[in-house]
Amino acid sequence: MDKQSLLDNYEKVLKRIDEIDKEKKVKLLLATKTQNTEDINFLIERGVKYIGENRVNELLDKYDSYNKNAELHFIGTLQKNKVKYICDKVSLIHSVDSYDLAKEINKQSLKIGKIMNILVEINIGREESKSGIMPDDTENFVKSLKDFQNIKVVGLMTMAPRCENKNDYYKYFGETKKIFDSLFSDNPEAILSMGMSESYEYAIECGSNMVRLGSAVFGERNR
Ligand SMILES: *Cc1c(COP(=O)(O)O)cnc(C)c1O
Repeated sequence: MDKQSLLDNYEKVLKRIDEIDKEKKVKLLLATKTQNTEDINFLIERGVKYIGENRVNELLDKYDSYNKNAELHFIGTLQKNKVKYICDKVSLIHSVDSYDLAKEINKQSLKIGKIMNILVEINIGREESKSGIMPDDTENFVKSLKDFQNIKVVGLMTMAPRCENKNDYYKYFGETKKIFDSLFSDNPEAILSMGMSESYEYAIECGSNMVRLGSAVFGERNR
């Protein structure tokens, strides 16, 4: 995409977030899958502070080229056997959805002497096909991770089902916010990662403090 359009999209999104986000607490993460590092770095130079990849191989291919002024997060489905490649490279993993995955992240982080920040992914639509912990199991799941010394659960992430009727987003994001409040109310820094290009305005209204945007900034993708 040409640089002027990128910049226009980015500024439009910032303005929209600013209009809805009364408390000025929302962080914008760029979902950078399929995008080239030239475009990504162009936006980092213009103030983007968080970028997220959702495939390990792609992250590794692009890693040396990212402008390191932005924090790199992992936002996609993570296979256990690939954890070892990213622990030294990312500052937050958004998508922890099983005990075994958490255990592996703990193990690999211990090896490199790091405490890895993670989010627990909630399957708020209770969809068979989707990853994530079921809403009712969240509290027990978070408790089950307490013994891992090298991971720190700093919040929750969700991918809502795509809603034809946009008002349905209030239901999914509202429920996620409730669970978030019940578990993290004692931590003002806790992260609630929810909202994508289609849905971020609703997510922010419901209390999201980190939105993950791809196509709203980079334009439509093929995958
Ligand atoms: C691609 C992706 C996004 C952003 O999707 P858009 O609809 O392009 O904004 C957000 N979160 C995850 C986990 C993604 O893989």
